[in-house]
Amino acid sequence: MRRVLTGTVAASGMALGRARLEQPARFTFDATPLAEGDVEAEIARLERALATAQAELTELRGKLHGALAREVGEFIDAHSLLLHDAELINGLRGLIRKGHYRAGAALKAQRDRLVAVFDAMDDPYLRSRREDVDHVITRVQAALARQASSEEKKLASRVGEILVTEGIAPGELAHLSGHGVLGVVAGSGSAYSHSAILARSMRLPMLVGVRDALTDLRDGDLVLVDGERGEAVVHPAAQDLTRYRNWQREAAREDRRLARLASAPTLTADGRELRLYVNAELPSEITQALALGAGGVGLYRTEFLFLQRDHLPDEEEQFAAYRDAVLGMGGLPVTIRTLDLGADKADSTGLAMAAEPNPALGMRGVRLSLHWPEIFATQLRAIIRAACYGPVRILVPMVSDAGEMQAVRTLLEDCARDLRSQGHEIPDQFELGAMVEIPAAAIAVRELLAKSDFLAIGTNDLTQYVLAADRNNDALGLLYDPSHPVLLRLMARVIRACRRAGKQVTLCGEIGGDPNFAPLLVALGLTDFSMHPGRILNMRDALARCNQSTLRALAPKLLRASTREEVAGLLKTA
Ligand code: PEP
Ligand code: MG
Repeated sequence: MRRVLTGTVAASGMALGRARLEQPARFTFDATPLAEGDVEAEIARLERALATAQAELTELRGKLHGALAREVGEFIDAHSLLLHDAELINGLRGLIRKGHYRAGAALKAQRDRLVAVFDAMDDPYLRSRREDVDHVITRVQAALARQASSEEKKLASRVGEILVTEGIAPGELAHLSGHGVLGVVAGSGSAYSHSAILARSMRLPMLVGVRDALTDLRDGDLVLVDGERGEAVVHPAAQDLTRYRNWQREAAREDRRLARLASAPTLTADGRELRLYVNAELPSEITQALALGAGGVGLYRTEFLFLQRDHLPDEEEQFAAYRDAVLGMGGLPVTIRTLDLGADKADSTGLAMAAEPNPALGMRGVRLSLHWPEIFATQLRAIIRAACYGPVRILVPMVSDAGEMQAVRTLLEDCARDLRSQGHEIPDQFELGAMVEIPAAAIAVRELLAKSDFLAIGTNDLTQYVLAADRNNDALGLLYDPSHPVLLRLMARVIRACRRAGKQVTLCGEIGGDPNFAPLLVALGLTDFSMHPGRILNMRDALARCNQSTLRALAPKLLRASTREEVAGLLKTA
């Protein structure tokens, strides 16, 4: 019988498939104590399950690329770290060895203990980290359970399935989508979670808050996920299937229409030309950039060369990566950003850094680079050498004042001098730019411009620092809002200062590729946008609907707005 379950749209689109229920893991375990002679075998079972869990995480990590790798990678890294946490592992071994617990019972005891510790914390962010503990321990429990039942992960058979679950971790979502899952219906969750953001970027329709999903649905039920209306239709009727087919046709038409934009210039409705660049890391993203008619690479993040390893990449390895990116762009500019790492990621990089209580406010980005000048010089030398193969610009992250730009420039010139004296034919000049992502940089933008050839506004960080809202904390929801009027004023200030100085400013945060922000950014005077390659066509399409003159005329009012609702209201009038 046809039934309709309602929920909130986390990712739009439609999908038709068979339901596959994933009940919240409730692992049964044997609470009877082990015999002394079985202790070592039980420890070996535990070690195997830990190794399996780690192998799964590593496999997941390896499958993620580009934006996905950045979004999900952090979670997976955090989970890997937990899996190696000495306190957790030694605690488990101790429970088995001394308490004669079976592995499953030891995992449950450790989970309960850790969750109690997290629950007792005052800090809501730390409290929310208990989810990580849960995810990791559930993964190890699942590996243990599979050893017992020798059940294989039946991933091959997931093609054409709609996952029905209580909630889903971002890493899992990326994995399942790669194995053919078509849509997700979740009992709880929010449209602002990382899983939701990820589902949108993977174009995987997802509903959250479908309260009775797990009780109302059965494995194998035919389900239509309608991410336009926020409905999961169980046993869809003829009219639902017609709606689905119409949607498919419309979506295919829209994809074809967008594809035609690949060779079109980026023009506003009143014929002003704008420039779109890509944020890239991988060769595939460079290739896409060219195919989509981008003006170059606006942000080449270099962290990927440093992550997931226990030693630092040497000059040759870095040079090869940067040179290939430059060659791949066939003469268009590549903006290489110097290393933007902090203590939160240092563990997986071969950098020996002290842990910091507040890595986002700590030794991150250019601060780290200037603190380790030899490591920084290695990177600068590699970039300078790559600049012999095509136009390269150097972008410095996390700049808080002009002095830091001066220090980078001095080091850059020293490196260039050394390379020349070693016989390298390198360009005479380098364009050196600063990321504007710390409020101080936006406020003192004129001083910063005196030491910079161009600027790039990093709204992902600027938003978190201006609003004191952690960009990774889902619990903050709407507090992390790049359209907050104060951010608009800062962005407009930076754009205006660059125009007056005759220097280029791009915007390379996520909103630079978000069609919903297109009118607002045009109103603020932005002309150069950098984004994930997957966003270029949508953005070109959205910008073509913006009338630059009308929107620019709105700017004074937007900059006087005091609430985001007022901003939204003003934009509706344009
Ligand atoms: C930003 O902060 O907006 C940005 C583009 O840099 P990242 O996301 O790499 O911190
Ligand atoms: Mg940033």
